[in-house]
This record gives sequence, C-alpha cells and structure tokens, in this order.
Amino acid sequence: MEKTVKSSITFRDFDLSNEVLKAVSAMGFEEPTPIQEKTIPVLLSGKDVIGQAQTGTGKTAAFGIPIIEKVDRSVHGVQALILAPTRELAIQAAEEMNKIGQYKRIQAIPVYGGTSIERQIKALQKGVQVVVGTPGRVLDHIERKTLSLKNVSIAVLDEADEMLDMGFVDDITRIMNETPASRQTLLFSATMPEAILRISKRYMKTPEKIRIASDALTAPKINQIFYEVRNDAKVDALSRLIDADDGGVFLVFCHTKREVDEVASHLKLRGYEADAMHGDFTQAQREAVLKKFKNSRIDVLVATDVAARGLDISNISHVVNYSIPQNPESYVHRIGRTGRAGREGVAITFVTPREEKQLRLIMSVSKATIKRGKLPSKEEVMISRFSNLKVKIDEFIDDKKFDRFLSLAGRLTEEVEPMSAIAALLKFQLEGVGNPETAHESNREEISLDDTGAAPGMARLFMTIGKEQNIKAGDIINAITRKANIPKQAIKGINIFDTFTFVEVPRDAAEQVIEFMHQSIISGRKIAVAPAKPRAGGDSGRSRRR
Ligand code: AMP
Repeated sequence: MEKTVKSSITFRDFDLSNEVLKAVSAMGFEEPTPIQEKTIPVLLSGKDVIGQAQTGTGKTAAFGIPIIEKVDRSVHGVQALILAPTRELAIQAAEEMNKIGQYKRIQAIPVYGGTSIERQIKALQKGVQVVVGTPGRVLDHIERKTLSLKNVSIAVLDEADEMLDMGFVDDITRIMNETPASRQTLLFSATMPEAILRISKRYMKTPEKIRIASDALTAPKINQIFYEVRNDAKVDALSRLIDADDGGVFLVFCHTKREVDEVASHLKLRGYEADAMHGDFTQAQREAVLKKFKNSRIDVLVATDVAARGLDISNISHVVNYSIPQNPESYVHRIGRTGRAGREGVAITFVTPREEKQLRLIMSVSKATIKRGKLPSKEEVMISRFSNLKVKIDEFIDDKKFDRFLSLAGRLTEEVEPMSAIAALLKFQLEGVGNPETAHESNREEISLDDTGAAPGMARLFMTIGKEQNIKAGDIINAITRKANIPKQAIKGINIFDTFTFVEVPRDAAEQVIEFMHQSIISGRKIAVAPAKPRAGGDSGRSRRR
C-alpha cells in the first residue's frame, strides 16, 4: 500500500478573491505548501507573523498571497514593503508578487543597488502598490523622497537572518521607523538567533510564530545524491543523467504544473520517451500516462507531488527532485518511490545555490546522507552507454538472436568497411544528449504553428542541434533550402544556442519544413524539429534559457 502525505487543504479553503485564486492556478500551484497552509490564514486575519522558513518552501507566496489579497488598487501609494537581503531575491520576490497580482492588477517593483536609480524613480512615480527592495537602496529612495512609506500597511522582513548577517540592522531600523506603527509586520527567517527575536520584539505586536514541525523522519537507505545546478542548466543536467543510465526508469518531480509541462516537453523534443502528469489531467489521462509508464513505453515521468500521490509504481530506478522538495517530509516521500521491491534505487536532487539551506534542513530532519555529485561529462555518458550496449550485444551474441540481420550486415559491409560501419552504428546508438532518433511524431502535436512567437506571417521552429555540434547559420539555411525547397531569403531569425537552434520560416511553408527536416540529418546528426513555444511573457522554459 502507498503511504500518502495527508493534506486536503486547497487554496479555495482560504478566504481569497477569485482574482487571486485564478492567479495561483495560472502559476501552476496545485495546493498550498505546509508553510502556506499555516501562514496564509493568520496573515489574512491581520496578525503579525514570525515564520521560520527558507527559500524553497514556498515562503514568498506564503506572504505574497495575503499581501496581494489585502492591497487595494484604489488606494494611492505603496501599501506593502518587502525588505530582502539581495538583489536576486528582491527580483524573484517581485516577480512572484506580480504573478499573484496579475488579475487584481496589483504591481510590485524591485528596487536594489548597483543599477540606475533614475529608472527606479520613474517606476515608483508611476504608482505601484508593492515595493520589494534591498535595505540600502530603499533607504536611498526614502532620503531622496522618491519613496514614501506613510501608506504602508504591511511590512515584511524576508530572510531576516541574512539581512542581519549582512549588517543591515541600522538601515532596517531607519526604514521601519518611516512606516506607520499600525502596520502589520511579518518576519521570515531560516534561523531564529537571539538578534532576530530582539528585532521581532521591537517591531511586532504579539506575533504568531509559525514553523513547520517535522515529525521524526527516516529517509530510506538508498543512494542519495545532490547536484548543484542553476535553474537554466537543469534540463541539460537531467538529460545527461538519463543518458548516463540507459534502461533507467525516472520519476521527476517539479513544483508546479507549468514546470512539469515545460520539462516534459523539453525532454520529448530532445527525443526522450517522457510524459507529464499533474492535477489538470483527467482520471482517464492519468491512467493512460500511467499505463505507458508501466508498459515501459515511456521511461521518464515528470509529475507534481499531487499527481504522483497514490501512484502505485514499483520499478522506478531514479527519483529526481528537479525542484527541491518544499519540506523534508516531501523529500522522504518522493525518494521512497525508488528502491522498491529489493531493487537498488537512486535519489537525485537538483539544488540551486540559494537552496543550500533547504538542502541542509532536509538532511538534518530526515537524517539523510545526501552526497554531492558531479554531473557526468559527455565522454563519461558515452562510455557508460557503450558499456551497457556491450552487455546487451554480448547477450545477443550468446543467444544468437540476430540471425536475420546477418544478411543485412553482409550488405552493409559490401559497400562500407566493417570498422566504419560499426562506428557509424555506434554513433547513431550512443550519441548522447537529446538522442533525437527516438523522437516520435506524437511528441510534436501540442504546440501550434500559429503560436510560436515569430514575426507576423512567420513560424518559429526549434531544432535539436546547436553550437556544441559546431553548427553554423549557413548549415541550417542550406539544409532547409535543400531539403524543404524554400528560398534562402525566406529563412530568418536564426538563433543558435549550445544544444538547440531557433529559426523562422514563412508560416505557410512551416509544416513542409518540419515534414522534411524532422529526423533528417544535418552535419552527421539526426535532429528533431518542432514549432517553438511562444516567447510571450518570457516565462516559457525555452525562452528563459535564452
Ligand atoms: P520560495 O520558497 O518562495 O523561494 O519558493 C520556491 C518555489 O516554489 C518557487 O518557484 C515558487 O514559485 C514555488 N511554489 C510556491 N508555492 C507553491 C505551491 N503551493 N505549489 C507549487 N509550487 C510552489
């Protein structure tokens, strides 16, 4: 029997407006994380909160959702101020607030040092409801009188321990003194040293302390590895790990539905037998995907925690935490899906530099030993695939299961020298990342050619070949003109990245180009070609990589 994580709370259980609920759903959140479950109702009730949570737990939305809910568009001036230790965090938090506020049309802007203050002044003058800033720059704006905090009704000290470590105490004091004493105050911190408690006493009114108690946990004794990977390098890292383990069965966990869709479609485009599963799937769709997974027609399933809950699958060799679990329980639950039935299992966790604290928490609560791993190089992937292939070839030879191919082999070696023939076959079989040979027609069906983010009258195509294969714009143009028979001048906007390329072709010729180019060979490499995802909003996985 599956052990299920119990949590039946949904965002609808909170007293939230339709606009905020719609935004949360559009962001791909299926259910509140533990810190959100506890924090959102308390903040909505108007109380001050001290939350012990770090990056990766969903803490930004834990305060972001109630803030957006409370902010009133018709009131003039900044109503919510969030202080964050770094520029990166300020940008991320402002982005998240803007997403939550997209239907209520609430605007958040980040203000941070090291960049033009004039642009920030202009943005502030336009009138925003939420400001997310680093203390130094916020103070700078206060002193220049380009930011007034007299209408602030909610102030947040995010990553308070880091702000203190960075010596921002005086700045924080001066900033808080600019806000009305009647404000609601929130403080989030990964750790709770004495200094933080002192600050909380100074600024908060009988705050409620929220921390997610962790039951005693024991992670299963399987091989647990983490890789430090930036967000934009995760698809490549995952591809390499899949390549290195021929025959592996991967269950990949992402936080959001949107991320699940993105990761699955990237993998499909790179030729992997992958599919997605999340809360928007009907029961029939879930069952269809599950059946494919169980029948080994797909060997990578990308899912949210919610979708994977209660799945009864026993042959998973690798669990991948593509996004770091939002709490140790979730980690233990996720990785418990591998290493079943006496098989060896591997649990892989991708950790961005900012998420190291969350990793440490997971390790200490779950008493897990998670070793740092180094991603295999392309050469190592190749050697590993070759070793696996060699084992299979030896088995075939022992079983003599290849009789009917002998005559074909004879035909091949009449024209080509045997060593070259074998080398060519090995190249087809082993050439790693994005092995597009196996890309199926069905993998391309969802993206419309009318929605690729191309110039009017054009369609933007994505192809799995790039700088790493030494490809040049001329090679792409020649291949398209030759294979799909369209004039050179009609091909525009070629953008070559490390492992993939975008190219724009006339919309009415696009189907033909895909037809001729998909699975064709450019510079000795078989490629997959598909309509690109639209760039609008800048939030598709592919455009983020740009
Ligand atoms: P944070 O701890 O705020 O840095 O959030 C970590 C990541 O989790 C961010 O990418 C959020 O967008 C995502 N996230 C936050 N809340 C949820 C949720 N309820 N469900 C899924 N993902 C979430």
